[in-house]
Amino acid sequence: MEPTLKVLRILTGEVEEIPIEIYLRGVVPGEMPAAWPMAALEAQAVAARTYALFYKKQGPRHPEVGADVCDGPHCQSYVRSEWAQNHPRIIAAVENTRGTVGTYQKQVKPMYYSAACGGQTISKWGPWLRPTTCRCQEIVGYTAGHQQGLCQWGAHVMAKDGATYQEILDHYYDMVWVEDYANTKLVKLPWYWIVVRFIEWFLGLITKRG
Ligand SMILES: [Zn+2]
Ligand SMILES: [Zn+2]
Repeated sequence: MEPTLKVLRILTGEVEEIPIEIYLRGVVPGEMPAAWPMAALEAQAVAARTYALFYKKQGPRHPEVGADVCDGPHCQSYVRSEWAQNHPRIIAAVENTRGTVGTYQKQVKPMYYSAACGGQTISKWGPWLRPTTCRCQEIVGYTAGHQQGLCQWGAHVMAKDGATYQEILDHYYDMVWVEDYANTKLVKLPWYWIVVRFIEWFLGLITKRG
């Protein structure tokens, strides 16, 4: 089942509940020009979906109002318009990746991204962010971001050269791409974990006695 997100509208303070794939139709063009190559838009959709789902599952980013995310650049820029909801390229980018999220050790993690990394990304905020060289400086020479995760201009270059969105994502993240975001095992510990821990504790108890 498609999860919903509670999105804080900064302008009015109201909190809207939006199905995640509909939310993404507003975020993809909010974070990347809709005219960019399709694979770059698809990579952006996966990063944005995973980022939002992380906060929904691990705790809201705006707990003061009970919102998972806000609609501004603090979380992810969300374009609230008919244009975005009906744009064929945006719909394609979201639908082609429907439900796909990035996982690291079977958990969704925030897939950070930035506009331009200056030619090198780092992994300061988590081991799922791959330190790698990037070709964004072929187009933009400057660094416009934290240099972690997807570099949007770098994705643009790769997509233009024919890379798929999976290849782009693999370049910037050390993650596994899972097509079922509704699978709660992504973030919850498996049921047998508690049994394993109990057995460990019990064996430890016996061994200490002996
Ligand atoms: Zn926010
Ligand atoms: Zn870059």
